[in-house]
Parts: sequence; structure tokens; C-alpha cells
Amino acid sequence: MPIQKVLIANRGEIALRIHRACHEMGIQTVAVHSTADADAMHVRLADHAVCIGPPAASESYLNIPNIIAAAEISGADAIHPGYGFLSENAKFAEIVEAHDLIFIGPKPEHIRTMGDKIEAKATAARLGLPLVPGSDGPLTSLDEAKRVAAEIGYPVLIKAASGGGGRGMKVVPEESQLESLMAQAGSEAKAAFGDATVYMEKYLADPRHIEFQVFGDGRGNAIHLGERDCSLQRRHQKVLEEAPSPVISMAQREEMGATVARAMAEMGYRGAGTIEFLYEDGRFYFIEMNTRLQVEHPVTEMVTGLDLVREQIRVADGYLLTLSQDEVEFRGHAIECRINAEHPRSFAPSPGLVKGYHAPGGMNVRVDSGLYAGYRVPPYYDSMVAKLIVWGHSREGALRRLRRALEEFVIDGITTTIPLHQALLDDPEFQDGDYTIKWLERWLAEQEPDQG
Ligand code: ADP
Repeated sequence: MPIQKVLIANRGEIALRIHRACHEMGIQTVAVHSTADADAMHVRLADHAVCIGPPAASESYLNIPNIIAAAEISGADAIHPGYGFLSENAKFAEIVEAHDLIFIGPKPEHIRTMGDKIEAKATAARLGLPLVPGSDGPLTSLDEAKRVAAEIGYPVLIKAASGGGGRGMKVVPEESQLESLMAQAGSEAKAAFGDATVYMEKYLADPRHIEFQVFGDGRGNAIHLGERDCSLQRRHQKVLEEAPSPVISMAQREEMGATVARAMAEMGYRGAGTIEFLYEDGRFYFIEMNTRLQVEHPVTEMVTGLDLVREQIRVADGYLLTLSQDEVEFRGHAIECRINAEHPRSFAPSPGLVKGYHAPGGMNVRVDSGLYAGYRVPPYYDSMVAKLIVWGHSREGALRRLRRALEEFVIDGITTTIPLHQALLDDPEFQDGDYTIKWLERWLAEQEPDQG
């Protein structure tokens, strides 16, 4: 029987995004929310709403028993986890399935494999993806670390096996610092993730972050939907994403795309996934796979015309993908700005009452946001409050449209990063697509302190 009611185990713009796909498919929605989110837009629009706990995410959006109970009392037959929170928690996916509910996401074993960075790299290598040179598995001794580092050459990077958010990573410039930095990385990893296991990679000097969107039906068919360039980052957080990457040719897209799609087909991967690479001197290096929908998925939707949440729901329900690889067409250029409730220079959080709100519109402009006039942005969660996505026939056209749309955007009462995006648009290097993962932090350091 097709899915009829989806519980959305998330909040904010992504909960609204999922609700929209469901209603377009004739599927009812159940919003779950903390006491801090009772007035949220997705809660207002959902067919049912269930309060699952107090503001702290650990007691609400991460509270598995309460979420399962909400699904049972509301009669939901499937759960969509969105991104963040429980989206990459294999145990949660298993519990959902054990309660005869459909998990709108990958098979639990694939979430588990890709969640362990060392296992993910070994799997990627087996599936033929190019890796950053480094240790085969965990580092077990200083001697081994010295040997691997001498082989691949300094600088090297020590990374935590259970890492996330860039924590537990140390750049080692030369052998004399290896012992102490390796020890530091291990104890940081132990403190943050309860696991001191570390491994080593060659440290790439100044790469781009380029990721491929993949989709599998869980039955051996998989396609790729091209790449996104997410190099514009601050403290490992993406700020602006675009598709296609300004530096990737159609031939490179087709070649790497075919490689990642083949790998996913071989795995029997189900649902949406992202294969992240660092890209330097014309070469791709796999770093990790995210087994969920990404924040930046709309840029892929804009250039392919596909609704990724609809595809997620379809394959979770046992249908095949809407398109075969031959039918995927890439059109034009899309750019997404993440708009955060933060000061555009100091990045200090700025939650509070939204006194006035006007979202841009017009041709090929999309705003994914739960904001409205009179809404109070709670201080407890991620500071991203809106995504502005634009499409143009060319990158230049998309940039012009983005400038126009940012001009129209009004969010009164709280401070946002809209001025940061406007300043970025004026930068000639950004306009030329000439940037790497280190570029934005350098650019921020050069800006006038009173900017924005
Ligand atoms: P996490 O899961 O902690 O975010 P990732 O492996 O995704 O860890 O890496 C996070 C970021 O760290 C990357 O986007 C990149 O900016 C940087 N990074 C990771 N590996 C390397 C490497 N081998 N060389 C240079 N930079 C790297």
C-alpha cells in the first residue's frame, strides 16, 4: 500500500520542504515539535502536530521513544528524518523499521558503514572511488604514523574515525610535531566522540569541495545528478553552494558521475546520498559520504528539474526512480545562499522576534524558509533561517538574479547574513568562480571590520 501519512522528524525549513513534497503527492503529514517550536510554520501547515518534548534537542528532536510514540498515535506509516538530528543514526532507522514503519532514507547498514570514516574509505576504495593518499585504516603506533607520513609526504592530516564537523583534526607540518599532534587529535576525538581512533591523510593545500548527488532505488539501480561546488565555507560550515561547479567540465561530470553511480548501484544503495570529494589540480579525492538529503539539495533540483524529496519517498515506498541516467538533463546554473540569524561580521547569533518579513519572488527564485512576520526565532537550534536559491541560464545570469533577489529580501527585527552575501557578490574573484575551501576565511579577514 502506498505511503499515506509521513511523520517529519525535523524542524525549520527542511520540515516545511518535506511537508510540501508530501502534500503535492497527496500524502498527509505529521509534524513533531518541541515546546519551543509550537508556532513554527511547518507545525501550522501539517495535518497533525505532536509535541515531543522540551526545547533541548536531546529531549525532543533526538528523543527516539517519543518520536516513535508520535508516529503510532498519529497513524503515520513512514518517517522522514530530514538532515541533521537522527538522519544518519543507523539505530534510529532500525528502530523505525522494527516498528513496521517505513524509514525514508537508506538501508541502516549503509548508514552505519558510511558513518564510520575508516570503513567508509575502505568501502569507497573497494567500489573504485579515488581516495586521498593516507593510512590504510586506523593508526596503531607512532612508528606506523611516521612511516605513512614519510611515504605520502608532509604536511599530513590526522583525522578522527568518528569525526564530524571538523573536530579532532590536526595538520602536522613536519615529523617533529607528529607525536604531540597525534596525541592531541586522539584525546580531542575521545572527548568529542568517545572514540580515540585516528587515521592519516595527505593534507591537500587548498582544494575545492565538490560533491556528487547520487540516488539509488535499493534494487541495484542508481543514477547521479551531477555535482555541487560547496567550497565557500567558514569553519567547515557551507555558506553558499552552486551547481554546476565553475571548474568542472561536462566530460569530468560524466566520468566521475558514472563512477559514483556505478558504486552506488553495486552497493544496492537506496535513496539520496552525497559523495564528497576534495578537488585539486584536476583530481578528485573522496573524503566522505552523507547518507541523507543535504541542505544544499535545491541547487541540484533547480538544474535537473527533479524533486529529490519526492524521489526519496518513492524509492522508500518500493518504486523505481522516475528517471534513468539517460533522461537526466542538466540545465543552466543554480546558486544557494544560506541565510543565518547571525551578525554578518562577528557571526554572533541573533535569535528573536521577526517584526517584518518579505521574501523575494519572481522568475526562477526559490525561498525555503519557515520565517513569517511575528515569528520568534528560538535560540536553541541551528541559526540557518532561510535558503535563497536562484536559477539562471548561465552563471552570470544566476549572479544577476541573486543580486536582485537579495535586494528584495526583508527580514526585520533580527540580524541576518544577507549583507555578507551581498558583499560576496561584489567580489571579482567570486564573480569569476575563482575560489577554494580557504578562500572565504581569507576574504572575511580582509573585509572592513564595520562591514555589514
Ligand atoms: P568532518 O566529518 O569532520 O566534517 P571531513 O572529512 O568531511 O570531516 O572534512 C571536513 C573538512 O576538512 C573538509 O571539507 C575540508 O575542508 C577539510 N579536509 C578534510 N580532509 C582534508 C585533507 N586531506 N586535506 C585538506 N583538507 C581536508
